[in-house]
Order: sequence, then structure tokens, then C-alpha cells
Amino acid sequence: MTSDAKLRKKSSLLDNFTPYYSPPHDTGEFSMWFIFYKNELLIQEKQGSYHVPLLNIVEQDKLPLINQFYLGQYDSIHCFGAEINPITSIPSGYQALGLRQLFGLISDDLLTLAGRVIHLLYWDSTTQFCGRCGHTTLLKTDERAKECPQCGLINYPQLAPAVIILIEKDNEILLARSPRFKPEMYSVIAGFVEPGETLEQTVLREIREEVGIQVHNIQYFGSQHWPFPQSLMIAFTAQYLSGQITIDHREIEDANWFTIENFPPIPNKMSISRWLIDWFIEKQTNKN
Ligand SMILES: [Zn+2]
Repeated sequence: MTSDAKLRKKSSLLDNFTPYYSPPHDTGEFSMWFIFYKNELLIQEKQGSYHVPLLNIVEQDKLPLINQFYLGQYDSIHCFGAEINPITSIPSGYQALGLRQLFGLISDDLLTLAGRVIHLLYWDSTTQFCGRCGHTTLLKTDERAKECPQCGLINYPQLAPAVIILIEKDNEILLARSPRFKPEMYSVIAGFVEPGETLEQTVLREIREEVGIQVHNIQYFGSQHWPFPQSLMIAFTAQYLSGQITIDHREIEDANWFTIENFPPIPNKMSISRWLIDWFIEKQTNKN
């Protein structure tokens, strides 16, 4: 399987989803609601399986919803995002679960949509007023944006692009430990793109800054949206070229070369950092 095919398997493609910005007059008897309560999604459990709630109008009205918005259409179902008032308690019949806990409990498509909702809720809460003149903003109906009726400034949901890089050296890869990681875990190198940089320049700069080595043969691997914070992770592989590992202790506390036989604990299977590492493991395993 090529890395592209692997990524298609692992990363939700949302083939059946179309974003829209204004709800239709008739949303059908039931619509799907991605409702957040203190950054956790409300989920219904029925006989051991977990569901994003499909609600009729009566059930919607019973919930203390705030900040609701139309998300678009998934298959033939209209989808909404919303949050419930954080000073209330979780409504009966629901559980509230974080996105990481939901991994494997609901489909990758629905998990991706939930991530989109949490991003849009955050965007909505931080763009109530125009950043230039302070006037109250209005949602646009033809695109996902807000417009200031006073000065015309348009505000789109912001994404912070970040690169994430697997560096290969023969049968080893470079893994590093950030003090923010859980104990003993190592991962690949990552960092945010600076304004004006190309992605390739960010890759070279981050590697130089964090571990002091040079790489070449930078290849695109895949991407993943990550809602905390609102970032788009763009993953690459690269080959070691020269230099000794020299750690920037402000960012990381250890970095080393590892073979698959001596890997430390690595990130869980929902992150693209893990997909990169799994790609390397599979390649090495097939070689042996
Ligand atoms: Zn304005």
C-alpha cells in the first residue's frame, strides 16, 4: 500500500459532507447535532454503541442551546453545531466526552465534523466584535466568514499551519521529547509556520533550531486538522544529511535516533505524528 493509500484509509475524507452556511427552510424531521458542553461533545449511548444525537424540533427546544449554527449536509442529514450553557449541567440521556475519548467510539467522519464544530465555536466566541473598529460583527450567509457592517472587515476562521517531520537515517528515525509530553513519550519534530515562510523553509528551520542537524529530500506525507489550538498539521518525511544532534533546551529535553526495536512510548493512533511513525515501522518490517 502506498503512503497515500494508507493516509486515505486513516484520515477521514468526508466524501459525503457538503458545507453550507444558511440552513434550508425544511431541515427534515431529524437533524444531527454536534453539541459541546465545556469543550466536550454530547453523545448518546444505546446498548453499548455511541451516537451523535439526531434530534427533532421538540428535543432541540428542550436543550439550553447557545451559539448554534448550521454546518451543512452529511449524506441526506442536516447538521448543526451548538454549545449548551456551561452553567447548566449535562442534560439527562447524554454523556459529555472529549474528542480524544471519542476516537474509535464514533466514525472518523463524525469525529472530523466534531473537530470542525469546536473550531467554529471558538472562532465565533473570539470574533463577536470587529478587530479593526470594534463594531458587532455579522455572520455572512454565502461563506464561512463574519463581516463588520461598519468598516467591511471580513474575518475568516483562522488556521495556524504547523509542520511535522519524520527524519530518517538508514534504519533509525529521530524522536524528541518535549517537557509538555506525558512521561517518557517521544515524538517527531513539529513547529508552527512563521509568516512569509514556505513549508519547506519551516521544516529546515525547525529541525535546525530544535536538534541542530541538516536534512534533505523533504517529501510531503499528508495533513490533519487539529482543533487544539486551531491548527493544520502538514506532515513530511526527510532524510538525514549531516550534523550532530544538538538540543534546544527551551523546546525539547531529549532527542535521539531510534530503531523500531528500541522505540520509546509514542503518540496514540489518532495523531498524524503516529501515522508517520507507523509508516516507518511498516516500511522497516516489510524490509526485514
Ligand atoms: Zn469594523
